[in-house]
Amino acid sequence: MDDQNLIRVQSEVRDLCVASKRPPHACRVLPVTKTIPADRLRQLQKQSPVPTAAIEFGENKIQELKSKYQELSDLNPTWHFIGHLQSNKARDCVAMAAMLHSVDRLKLGRVLDQELQAAGKSLPILIQVNTSGEASKFGVAPDKAFQLVKDLSQFETLKIKGLMTLAILSNQSPKVRGCFQLLRQLAKEIEDAAIDKVEMTELSMGMTSDYKIAIEEGATIVRIGQGIFGPRALPDSYYWDEGS
Ligand SMILES: *Cc1c(COP(=O)(O)O)cnc(C)c1O
Repeated sequence: MDDQNLIRVQSEVRDLCVASKRPPHACRVLPVTKTIPADRLRQLQKQSPVPTAAIEFGENKIQELKSKYQELSDLNPTWHFIGHLQSNKARDCVAMAAMLHSVDRLKLGRVLDQELQAAGKSLPILIQVNTSGEASKFGVAPDKAFQLVKDLSQFETLKIKGLMTLAILSNQSPKVRGCFQLLRQLAKEIEDAAIDKVEMTELSMGMTSDYKIAIEEGATIVRIGQGIFGPRALPDSYYWDEGS
C-alpha cells in the first residue's frame, strides 16, 4: 500500500539522517506523483497520519499537475513543481505550485516575476544545477550558478531557498556522490557570499535510486516516486525531455 510505503520511506530517511549525524527531521520526503492517478493520491492522502494539507506532492509536467490539481482541489495538497518549466507555462505554475524546484535561467525568472506580480504573490524557488554535465539534463552549469542566483535575487517575488539537482544516472556511487557534493559546495559558496534576500536552506537532491547517498551529502528534500508507488512503465528520459 502506498501509505505504508510512504511511512516506511519516511522512517528510513529519518534513520539515514541520524546515521549521517544529522537531526532526524533534517530531510523530508517529497512523494513524486507523475503517472499516478488522482484517485490513488486521494486514497494515500486519506490514509496518511499527517493532516491532509500537510501532504506534499511533486509533479514534473504542467498538464498533469493541472488535472490533478483540479481533481484533488477539495483536499488541497501542497504541490511542488520539479520538472522543466517552459516560460509559456509560468502562469499555470504560479497558480498551482507552492514551490518550484527547477529555475535554471534568467528569462524564466523574469517571466515568473511578471506573473507573480500580476497575481500579487511570491514563490519559493530552487535553482536547478546540472551537476552531472550530461547534455540531456536541464539546469544551469555549475560555474554559472552563482551569477544566476545573483541575477534572480533582484526579483522581489522570487524567494530563493536553495538548490536542486538530478545526479548522473549511474550505478557507480562515487560519481553520483560527486554530483551531490558539488551541489552542497555551490550552496555553501552562495551562502557565504550573503547575497541579499537569498537563502540556501534547501538542497533538493536524491531520488529512488540514490537518496541514501544524497542524505549522507546533506539533502533536505528527497524526491521519491518509484520507491513509494512502484516502478514506472516509461524510461526517465520520457519525463525529462523538453517540450513533451
Ligand atoms: C520522476 C522524478 C523523480 C523521482 O524519480 P523516482 O525514480 O521515481 O524516485 C525525482 N525528480 C524528478 C525531477 C523527477 O522527474
